[in-house]
Amino acid sequence: MFDSKMLTSFVIKSSLYRYSNIKIGDKVTYLVAPQSISDLAIIIKEAKAQNLEILPVGGGSNILFGDVGNRVIILDANLPEIFDVKEDIVTTSSNIKISSFIDKAMQYDLGGLEFISGIPAHIGGAINMNAGAFGKCIFDYVLWIEYVNLEGNIIKLEREDLNFGYRTTSIDGFIIRAGLKLDKKTKKQILDAKENIISMRLERHPYDYPSLGSTFKNPDGKFAGQLIEECGLKGLQIGNAQISEKHANFILNKGNATFEDVTEIIRIVKKAVKEQKNIELELEIRIIN
Ligand SMILES: Cc1cc2nc3c(=O)[nH]c(=O)nc-3n(C[C@H](O)[C@H](O)[C@H](O)COP(=O)(O)OP(=O)(O)OC[C@H]3O[C@@H](n4cnc5c(N)ncnc54)[C@H](O)[C@@H]3O)c2cc1C
Repeated sequence: MFDSKMLTSFVIKSSLYRYSNIKIGDKVTYLVAPQSISDLAIIIKEAKAQNLEILPVGGGSNILFGDVGNRVIILDANLPEIFDVKEDIVTTSSNIKISSFIDKAMQYDLGGLEFISGIPAHIGGAINMNAGAFGKCIFDYVLWIEYVNLEGNIIKLEREDLNFGYRTTSIDGFIIRAGLKLDKKTKKQILDAKENIISMRLERHPYDYPSLGSTFKNPDGKFAGQLIEECGLKGLQIGNAQISEKHANFILNKGNATFEDVTEIIRIVKKAVKEQKNIELELEIRIIN
């Protein structure tokens, strides 16, 4: 038997815009931030018992919140942090920020993830999305993951048991820990690589307004940003959301943009690229509505 009050006892009063990098999102019925893995498992079991979908949230750098209904939104923020090193293998909790992971690993002369320097993600979110850039992805380094499945049980999966691809994985649950095998590097090599990537990002990507990074996946052999630009849509503004003038695959919140402003831009872009280029753009961001 489930206890309907149990879930409510974990609820925190806050609005979702605080937890999405594009700063859009309203109040929600079930927003929880468990402080232990056992509480996380209880929440997931209760959600299942009440037939509610769960949504893990890490850095919120790829999620656009609409009407989330009765989904149970689970923040990783208050879970215990783990960062253990044995030789070249790091065991990390999912809630460590990418920037902090890179800096911590550097203290042990271990590197590798510098290619995703500058992305406001957490390890769990980056693994779930198989974050990547400049021809590399995080699964080049992941050895295993541990997650709480939708029944509330902790499961460990080795890399060979996981399906992953371009910005996608098959993980159905809440990732809590992972093992990553890193490269032995000097601190200078890591710092140089990190600075190089961050300056390339600052040059190419807009960092002056909130965004979710690339809105669409790159179709085979093409760049979504270039296709959008060729359709003449760079700079298009709907309400307070705008296609970046700097990189057409980024949608910016220029101040109080709404969910509808962003989704209208997405609709216009998809239609134009289909009509003018005969290409169906696929979303990279996750829309929760
Ligand atoms: C400025 C900017 C630049 C970016 N550049 C890149 C880039 O170069 N390459 C790239 O790949 N992405 C990029 N992104 C997008 C984003 O950072 C990545 O998709 C990242 O992997 C998302 O991590 P997150 O922790 O923010 O996840 P969230 O946005 O919180 O979540 C993303 C998805 O992962 C799920 N998730 C989150 N945490 C967990 C967990 N613990 N267990 C299971 N599922 C979980 C969520 O439910 C959601 O479906 C960029 C974003 C921004 C804002």
